[in-house]
Amino acid sequence: MRSIRDLTLSGRKLLLRADFNVPLEAGRVSDATRIEATLPTIRHAIESGARVICASHLGKPKGKRKPELSLAPVAVELARLLGKPARFADDCVGPEIEKLAERLTPGEVLLLENLRFHAGEEANDLEFARRFAALGDVYVNDAFGAAHRAHASVAAAAGLFAEKGAGLLLEKEVRELSRLLDPEHPFAAIFGGAKISGKIDTLRALSRRADILLIGGGLANHFVRALGLPVGRSLLEEDKVPLAREILDFCKREGKIIALPSDFVVAKSPDDAAGAKTVGIAKIPADAMALDVGQKTLEQFERLLEPAKTILWNGPMGVFEKPPFDRGTKALALLLAESDAVTVVGGGESVAAVREAGVAEKFTHVSTGGGASLEFLSGASLPGIEALS
Ligand code: ADP
Ligand code: MG
Repeated sequence: MRSIRDLTLSGRKLLLRADFNVPLEAGRVSDATRIEATLPTIRHAIESGARVICASHLGKPKGKRKPELSLAPVAVELARLLGKPARFADDCVGPEIEKLAERLTPGEVLLLENLRFHAGEEANDLEFARRFAALGDVYVNDAFGAAHRAHASVAAAAGLFAEKGAGLLLEKEVRELSRLLDPEHPFAAIFGGAKISGKIDTLRALSRRADILLIGGGLANHFVRALGLPVGRSLLEEDKVPLAREILDFCKREGKIIALPSDFVVAKSPDDAAGAKTVGIAKIPADAMALDVGQKTLEQFERLLEPAKTILWNGPMGVFEKPPFDRGTKALALLLAESDAVTVVGGGESVAAVREAGVAEKFTHVSTGGGASLEFLSGASLPGIEALS
């Protein structure tokens, strides 16, 4: 895989697939983190004299033009962050857009409209990919967060370019996450959160490589069930319980450390802050939900993490959006921030929690790709990365 740094860009039309899938509020970008993450790549392109054509998806318009999912607000924000104009094209393919691209002068930036306004994008349609690819001379993918999807702008289109490479963000993600494919041991993986499908498969794959597994968040309920204990009205995907059982058995057989929370903070619902109380792992009441890990668990996790040389964290320990159920997640963020180990955090909400705690800079790597980083860490090859090789 080549880097954007290895490509000749001067005077050429650079088609740059970025991840500008940002939250919008009242027609404005409400969180520009993803735009900021790709600025180094765009600045490099500008300084190299490229004519920069940026493309991204936003939300799920399902092949239809949805005004509320237009990338127009992103062009405004991009221009503000770059401190120079960013033009906006109201489509991402077609003769009119080709003309706009052709007229760009070196260092100028054009942002295309939402790729997913065309059904061909998600279908990885070759004809759509051809029309999209016609816009550029050189192709760069910086959208690590979309690299696990075989969509036209990351897969089929990339295949049509002779000259292509990875943007600085994608390159960094691959470099940092690759360290976890061959980690310095002891390697600890901490998993939590609420997206059980997908996550638990990654956990299974990682259990082969990790020495220490710590389970919290909604994911932990599945392991509690696997032990035959009650979870009350807690989040549970019943069909994932056998997989939790399998992971427990595997770790036992292989002599790996796998720790479940020894205590939980429970309540009637996430809005029932007043009713919050701490109970042991076997004591989740029938009418309650486990919403955070307890203090004993945090102390136990801290002890178990002490020898770790590499630590991966994915998924909050509790419903951290609703105090007091944010304590476990915050405490873990602060604990990892102080660790001397290589520390990597991935997953949309986990990263948000780490930022909220104000300790993102203290981690070795904060991954911008949720699903993509999980798939990468499972050892799968990602279509968007394959297509660059
Ligand atoms: P990430 O985005 O970090 O990969 P997920 O998307 O899997 O994490 O899950 C994040 C969500 O998990 C958070 O919104 C949080 O409220 C929720 N969560 C964490 N613990 C629990 C729990 N015990 N019960 C229900 N939801 C939980
Ligand atoms: Mg999430």
